[in-house]
Amino acid sequence: MSSRSVPWYDDFLGVAYRYFDLRMNVVPLFSERKPANELWNQIVRWWNDHDIKIRFVENEDHYWFIMGSDSKRPDHNRGFFKVLQKSENYQRFKKGHMGEAYIRFGVYTEKNENNAKDEAICNCSHRKDDHDGSCLVEGCNCQKFESFVLNLLKKKKTITNIKFLEEKDVKDDSLAWNCLYVNKYKNSE
Ligand SMILES: [Zn+2]
Ligand SMILES: [Zn+2]
Repeated sequence: MSSRSVPWYDDFLGVAYRYFDLRMNVVPLFSERKPANELWNQIVRWWNDHDIKIRFVENEDHYWFIMGSDSKRPDHNRGFFKVLQKSENYQRFKKGHMGEAYIRFGVYTEKNENNAKDEAICNCSHRKDDHDGSCLVEGCNCQKFESFVLNLLKKKKTITNIKFLEEKDVKDDSLAWNCLYVNKYKNSE
């Protein structure tokens, strides 16, 4: 058990997994740049790379993303967590990370037909200028142009302490146990 109880933070959109800069990147997503930068500067900046732990606690079709570390500013420290659906990118990360990843924050912006460029790619895989309301490409069922832009912020840390766990094994890992105890089990006691 960790000696001091660190407050947990889950007010972000999700987590993206991207191959970029020679390593897999684990990217907690925010809707705006300013709060993402502030959070990085207040919390993550004070972590030593080799102290950072990431845990993925799986339970059927979803998982808990859990990230924490000792801090050079322990009084301001926080842990991050989010309960997410397993995705293809998540599975790819799980298979491909080889024990190392960059952590960096990202800004996720949704685009629609009014604010995207002509060459922006819709979630249906066709360009915006192939759409007029619905997608005009033959055989495509897309009813509405929808896209997103993901900007990775520059600052990053290297993590080497990455573990995938089943929820039933969570007691053996202090960070994962602390997170699930505080954010799940405690409330149901
Ligand atoms: Zn489309
Ligand atoms: Zn289409």
